[in-house]
Amino acid sequence: MNATQEKATTEGSLKQVIAHAKEYGFVFPSSEIYDGLSAVYDYGPFGVELKNNLKALWWKTMTQLNDNIVGIDASIFMHPTTWKASGHVDGFSDPMIDNKDSKKRYRADVLIEEHAAKLTPEAGLALEKELARLLEADDLSGVLALIVRENIKCPVSGTANWTDVRQFNLMFSTQVGSVAEDSSTIYLRPETAQGIFVNFLNVQKSARMKVPFGIAQIGKAFRNEIVARQFIFRMREFEQMEMQFFVRPGEEMTWYQHWKATRLNWHKALGIPENKLRFHDHEKLAHYANAAVDIEFEFPFGFKEIEGIHSRTDFDLKSHQEYSGKKQQYFDSEINQNYVPYVVETSVGADRLFLMTLCNAYTEELVGEGEQQKLRTYLKLNPAVAPIKAAIFPVTKKDGLPEKARLIFDDLRLDMKVIYEEKDNIGKRYARQDLIGTPFCIAVDYQSLEDDTVTIRYRDSTLQERIAIKDLKAKLMAETSFNTILSKL
Ligand code: ATP
Repeated sequence: MNATQEKATTEGSLKQVIAHAKEYGFVFPSSEIYDGLSAVYDYGPFGVELKNNLKALWWKTMTQLNDNIVGIDASIFMHPTTWKASGHVDGFSDPMIDNKDSKKRYRADVLIEEHAAKLTPEAGLALEKELARLLEADDLSGVLALIVRENIKCPVSGTANWTDVRQFNLMFSTQVGSVAEDSSTIYLRPETAQGIFVNFLNVQKSARMKVPFGIAQIGKAFRNEIVARQFIFRMREFEQMEMQFFVRPGEEMTWYQHWKATRLNWHKALGIPENKLRFHDHEKLAHYANAAVDIEFEFPFGFKEIEGIHSRTDFDLKSHQEYSGKKQQYFDSEINQNYVPYVVETSVGADRLFLMTLCNAYTEELVGEGEQQKLRTYLKLNPAVAPIKAAIFPVTKKDGLPEKARLIFDDLRLDMKVIYEEKDNIGKRYARQDLIGTPFCIAVDYQSLEDDTVTIRYRDSTLQERIAIKDLKAKLMAETSFNTILSKL
């Protein structure tokens, strides 16, 4: 690529990324033939591969690279008292407000935060602090007064004709039991963390873990979000990857700093540029936390949270101890003490990670000169997480080339996800793989029949080189291995 072409490279807007995701089989609106369901999405053939790869990478990082972290897979349904103890029944709500003219509903805190982002940094921070204080005090009329004072208007109607601010609980509930009389209300979990807390002693004892140790889990979570916007950024059904790290009381801040740095580094190792990531300390701490920070990524719609690191104190275990009447203590033989461990949590959304990866990979580039110039769109995905690792093409459909290409394909497919294609001219086939982010295309030509070599084409540079078939698998495996990322951690 020359310098002018490099300059012409652009990233996509959210609209382009959404259209690309749908067109090329990454993400579809849920039940689209019925016009979709707000804030619910389905992953398509290439989307599910990418998402599974991201999840597998996280899982390996947590449970394979750390000998003191083990995994579990807890149920979505839990005993309803869990959510009393965790504070979700009474406190898991967002302040909502309606505009009487447009009839649109907003999160009152988000309206104020978005307004604060438009002010000078000092004024914005002061406003955020004021908001945090009011929310802390549960002063909803104060929040409304702030909206009125700042003259915040509805983006749709342009008026400031607001209702009162009300709290809205985000948990979905349903009934368990076959007949109405003996059924009881249970919840779809709004976070995966509680499945870890209630299993703390089961895991500690069965896997013979010693504090400090962690429990990791990947699973679905559900939140009845007031405003569903920005594609898969805010969904009502989504997937979390959470790790709770149990530590000695008093040592939580050291571990909090450790996990903060470790997790930022992980996103960088995945290939996210440093200038697109930042920390954002929480002004308003959740009821369980004594420190909290978000890792934010610069999406096309601004810097937004992808992962939270929270020092959750001993709140959850203590509360479960109280509600269940079962001791949640650990005997630390090194210091000869019984205690309820403190917890540092890392919590990242699989879907937000997916969206970050897609936004970061989406590339448009002007290639060629003069009249020949055209736009090339491709996904610059890290090869280790790309849905398809390599595509195998015979250059023509005859003279034994398909057979030769199939032999290579059949051998590679034992170790990685590959595609075989013989339809269309080879340029079209390359372009199609670029659009789904396949890092390598292998072409089998007449020379292959003579000297057992093939050409390998690199997605990002579009350069091609010849390689011996016998060396192909080792090269592809090395370049698409999780190792390329894990070794940087
Ligand atoms: P936000 O402030 O954006 O609502 P949160 O602070 O409530 O997020 P956490 O409760 O800390 O989020 O959840 C941890 C992670 O789970 C988030 O960093 C995000 O990646 C993911 N997540 C939370 N809510 C959603 C959602 N509605 N859709 C997709 N991912 C989500």
